[in-house]
Amino acid sequence: MTTIKRKKFICTFCKGDVHQIDYKDAQLLSQFVTYYRSIQNRFHTGVCLKHQKSLAVAIKRARTMGLLPFVRHEK
Ligand SMILES: [Zn+2]
Repeated sequence: MTTIKRKKFICTFCKGDVHQIDYKDAQLLSQFVTYYRSIQNRFHTGVCLKHQKSLAVAIKRARTMGLLPFVRHEK
């Protein structure tokens, strides 16, 4: 019998004991967007479901506040 070993990902926000993700922290939020500035997949970032939902809200808030771009602007 074979067992599939999976790497256990620990959510960065759970590790830091963060309850509410700060939408004003554009530096942090920019780590969770792709090259074309769309929100990255949960399975790619390793963020848990609870924090991914609040992360998505935080990114959307930051976008409307003008802190993060909606799309990447190619020159
Ligand atoms: Zn988490």
